[in-house]
Amino acid sequence: AKELGKSRWVEYGPELDAHAVEHAQIAAELSQALDRDELYVLYQPIVGLPGGEVRGVEALVRWRHPTRGLVSPVTFIPVAERTGLIVPIGAWVLRQACLQGAEWARTLGARAPWKISVNASARQLLEPSFVATVAATLTETGLDPARLTIEITETAVFGGGRALDTVRALHTLGVKIALDDFGTGHSSLGLLRTCPVDVLKVDKSFVDGVTGTVEQEAIATSISEIAQALRLEAVAEGVETAQQAARLLELGYHLAQGFHFARPLPAAEIAPLCVPEPSL
Ligand code: C2E
Ligand code: CA
Ligand code: CA
Ligand code: CA
Repeated sequence: AKELGKSRWVEYGPELDAHAVEHAQIAAELSQALDRDELYVLYQPIVGLPGGEVRGVEALVRWRHPTRGLVSPVTFIPVAERTGLIVPIGAWVLRQACLQGAEWARTLGARAPWKISVNASARQLLEPSFVATVAATLTETGLDPARLTIEITETAVFGGGRALDTVRALHTLGVKIALDDFGTGHSSLGLLRTCPVDVLKVDKSFVDGVTGTVEQEAIATSISEIAQALRLEAVAEGVETAQQAARLLELGYHLAQGFHFARPLPAAEIAPLCVPEPSL
């Protein structure tokens, strides 16, 4: 395609149509994925630093498509958001995660991952029935509301309005609120005054900087200080090396998530990671 000055959109011409067709196909297939049992949930441990003990898990949805194979949520979540399918899909993920969390609490007792994190899209927060759905799911599954964390993005609640009302109502239920990809939006600090927040999830892009220069680690350092000052939990996301984990601890982080500790795993692989505290 031709570069036409500043109007970048015209570069796409035919590819845009191809994308549109691809998206329409994915949307049609996604609408059947739930009924056809093609979706499932993986759980990625959130661990303590320095010990690496499992403190919680984040539920991450997966789509095993009969012919396309595994489709990344990076591809299908935006389609689900645009079509509104994220509402039933999100409700399903929430229910799976709460059922699993309650089962771990029953079978693992004190060793169970204490917190279950579930992502919620802006589209879900705008749905008038979302708070009722969360409340009903907690009642039905028996999961203690204090053990559920809903992860939202700054952009979802940036404009205030219904999304922010929803978050406040969730907090009133006793559910914890995490700000996901913290630092990548444009309203991070102001939001901490208006929106009830318990956890800051520090975006991987800042975690990547912590083994670099003082300048590169400045944002991770600042977020740790903000979290401490406001008594919020801070989770460092996308930790891939032991060196990053060690530096994050020095910067005041006590919770981390990333491939260095564990990838997103099927529920059955979580229990063996929940070992008892060493009785030294
Ligand atoms: P997210 O909420 O920021 O989730 C973290 C993503 O980072 C996950 O990607 C996870 O697999 C990945 N990750 C974790 N540790 C590492 C690491 O050390 N290195 C690298 N490179 N990546 C790491 P995943 O599962 O592909 O999900 C992508 C995004 O899709 C999520 O980003 C979230 O925005 C969305 N998503 C996933 N499941 C759901 C869901 O059930 N509902 C909604 N609304 N969105 C979801
Ligand atoms: Ca998340
Ligand atoms: Ca994130
Ligand atoms: Ca992300």
